[in-house]
Amino acid sequence: MAKRDYYEVLGVERNATLEVIKKAYRKKAIEYHPDKNPGDKAAEEKFKEAAEAYDVLSDEQKRQRYDQFGHAGAGGASGGGGYGGGMSMEDIFSQFGDIFGGHFGFGGFSGFGSSRGSERRVNRGSDLRVKVKLNLNEIAKGVEKKIKVKKYIPCKACHGSGAEGSNNTKTCDTCHGSGIVTRVANTILGQMRTQSVCPACDGEGRIITRKCPVCSGEGIVRDDDVITLNIPPGVAEGMQLSMSGKGNAARHGGVNGDLLILIEEEPHPELIRDENDLLYSLLLTVPQAALGGNVEVPTIDGKAKVKIDPGTQPGKVLRLRNKGLPSVNSYGTGDLLINVSVYIPETLTESEKATLAGLDNSPNFQPQKTVKDKLFNKFRQMFD
Ligand SMILES: [Zn+2]
Ligand SMILES: [Zn+2]
Repeated sequence: MAKRDYYEVLGVERNATLEVIKKAYRKKAIEYHPDKNPGDKAAEEKFKEAAEAYDVLSDEQKRQRYDQFGHAGAGGASGGGGYGGGMSMEDIFSQFGDIFGGHFGFGGFSGFGSSRGSERRVNRGSDLRVKVKLNLNEIAKGVEKKIKVKKYIPCKACHGSGAEGSNNTKTCDTCHGSGIVTRVANTILGQMRTQSVCPACDGEGRIITRKCPVCSGEGIVRDDDVITLNIPPGVAEGMQLSMSGKGNAARHGGVNGDLLILIEEEPHPELIRDENDLLYSLLLTVPQAALGGNVEVPTIDGKAKVKIDPGTQPGKVLRLRNKGLPSVNSYGTGDLLINVSVYIPETLTESEKATLAGLDNSPNFQPQKTVKDKLFNKFRQMFD
């Protein structure tokens, strides 16, 4: 179906001001409002067509693109092509606050005026939030955790319906089963009919005549449940994972809520996490730093041997590739960064003192210029 020109749809000039466009749309919206034309498909199409035209022409950028490129330029408003595939009724009504000054309360209402006809509301269970504390080993490899939670589950006595036995529900008298009630509101534009969820049946369309005694007609009961969580590797403190459908059950057999898992990270006694890298502070003895040798450092999976070169200076950073944590969203693994420090003895025997005093005169114990320069540059960078 070829689209009509948006200006033609609203019946305005190409140079119309926003005020004029708004007024024109308001008129069309009232004329073709589904409440005024129940079951009239042509009116519904016109209603949507006007909404789409307004959506584009009321937005300066979209209007400019439309003026330049036509419908192809304004594609954002209707990805699906065709008037019906563009804006949903909800989109259109959310636009109304702007047009009618917020007189229309369509909040919480779904399925209105859709081509499938009126839909009764489906209950949704609330989300369930849990915290999970993990150590770095668990984070590195991912972990399966079984947790016990208290949550709403469907009542076994009534299979979640809330009614005792069979044939104990009836069509709601207030909304005659549609789940929707229509109210007439007086606005500056005259009388407008608004629709909302039926308060008598909560939008379900049916009323329970004999309630299940176990759940008092709710269809759900609070009980213990054991849930298995599969935590992927690489998660971090504060991250939230969600498992769809693992939250609370809904009243009267609706859709389950989600389970939201908040990650807490236990600090490691020796390793510090920096995103996917791990940091370790290594303290060498003076002979180790001067003579070199092998030392052991902790990693996520046991100890690793690290070779220390003779003459290693404090402040040197050694990097063990891929000994960090895996990334949760992408490929690759972080590194283990080892920051080297040297332990200077705090107490000495007389003979040790004599040995060191003797060494202080040796030219090899005098700070080398290259090391001095490096240290100076590092120091200067700290203050840049
Ligand atoms: Zn009702
Ligand atoms: Zn029950």
